[in-house]
Amino acid sequence: MKNNPLRYTDPSGHYNIKGPESNEKTTDHLCLDQKCVLNYQLKMYGVSAKGNWSTKNLKGAKEGVRALAKTFSAYNGKAATKAFRDVYGSITFQWEDGACDNPGGNDPGSSCYADAYLSPGTIRFWAKSMGNSPVYVDGEIIYEYGEIPNPPVTAYLAIHELSHVLDLLSGRLGEALVQKYDIDRTGLHYSQSREDTDREIFADVMVEEAVFRAYPPDKYPTYSNGVDQTTQVYLTTDLGDIISAAETYR
Ligand SMILES: [Zn+2]
Repeated sequence: MKNNPLRYTDPSGHYNIKGPESNEKTTDHLCLDQKCVLNYQLKMYGVSAKGNWSTKNLKGAKEGVRALAKTFSAYNGKAATKAFRDVYGSITFQWEDGACDNPGGNDPGSSCYADAYLSPGTIRFWAKSMGNSPVYVDGEIIYEYGEIPNPPVTAYLAIHELSHVLDLLSGRLGEALVQKYDIDRTGLHYSQSREDTDREIFADVMVEEAVFRAYPPDKYPTYSNGVDQTTQVYLTTDLGDIISAAETYR
């Protein structure tokens, strides 16, 4: 067959996998698609992705893991993958095809994209949520109350949920930190959650910390767009203690 499209591909058909950080070894592990590469990189952090993950969603989740691991590494000098594993051990990212039901939650009208409180070893990411209010596009209701497709998984979402787990593993030191600094609850923290509880504020402030470490705004304007850098200062003295406490719990 003359027009075989395969002739344009790498004859091996394999992806060359690099470690997630530049100082980590490349491997001879063989993958045939990007999803396999992402799964392999996540494994280096101790993360197992289970369920029907799309490549795009998995990429968002991996970017979040990578950014948070770099943050831990900056506090204790360990290689990023080890710093992450020392906090979380092995952790599962479970993709759920169904809808996360959050009826009349603390913030009516908000959607449920993921949850970290089932157990510290599993974070669930949901394909849909049970909406508490209709969704409008150009003045028209496109979804009534009921199941609403969730937006793609972002690095921010993954960091937020992982920070809830970090808080639990540290014996809720993260929440205590929020109380200690008396953070302005009226909107200073970033907007993964609109709940003004200590645990949600901590998880959002962690997003800012990790995003600004991993993606300096001058280099990555897309990632840092809309993230409030002012709250980063709250963590700089105490995050090392929170990481140590989480390691000890494990
Ligand atoms: Zn949350």
